[in-house]
Amino acid sequence: MNYMYNWNKAAMLKQLWNIARKKENLWVKWVHSYYLKLQDVTEVQVSIHASWLFKKIINLRTVVERLGGWEEITKGSEYTIGRTYEMLIADAPKVPWSNIMIKNIASPGARFITWLAIQNRLATKERIEKWKVIEDAKCVLCSGAIESTQHLLYDCQFTQSVRNCLFSFLKYRPESSNFQEEIQKMNKINKKKTDRAKLIVGIWTEMIYSIWMHRNRKIFDNRSCNMKELTNYIVFRLAGRVNNRMKEMLVTR
Ligand SMILES: [Zn+2]
Repeated sequence: MNYMYNWNKAAMLKQLWNIARKKENLWVKWVHSYYLKLQDVTEVQVSIHASWLFKKIINLRTVVERLGGWEEITKGSEYTIGRTYEMLIADAPKVPWSNIMIKNIASPGARFITWLAIQNRLATKERIEKWKVIEDAKCVLCSGAIESTQHLLYDCQFTQSVRNCLFSFLKYRPESSNFQEEIQKMNKINKKKTDRAKLIVGIWTEMIYSIWMHRNRKIFDNRSCNMKELTNYIVFRLAGRVNNRMKEMLVTR
């Protein structure tokens, strides 16, 4: 995702570079005669009536500044998307949870769902309720509260019991009080290189995934399983991906 985002940005910056250099192409000519008139691209005030694309490109002026100006970006010669892309990647702010995804032993599917969950991008009922496509926003696992990410993956009684059960295998005592805090905790633990640390973060990632899938099965297929079955399933998923030492730690419980 980050890859595409930065690549697009680098490609759009090229357009800005073309405008700045008055490169002879139709679009640039049009921009000059229509928007810029005789003003400099670095100073022009963008009218609210300007096209969406033009605004987007002009707004990248701040990026040019941040990267050290055109001199720095083009290294005194031509603009290349590839080089600018590299600069954008290096410039990207490091998100506080980025570490969770590095060397996480969970399956790719689990990492993907967790990655969405961390950013609150799962299509929970709370989020899709705004589009007026559902009538009932209640959590299907407990029929209690509104199904938000915080509820489904943290507060829900069902999730709590799965979490407690899983973490007690690993003699880990979670000390967070909400999902965001738990993310920060996992981020920290994942910096450690011990088998136990790897297992805690791996189990947690598989748990996020499995709760989400369990919830989907319940909503879409009306299928269900109990807490014990789900925890066994989570352990089973991870056990297939780890070395023998770790497997030992998972199964001797
Ligand atoms: Zn619930």
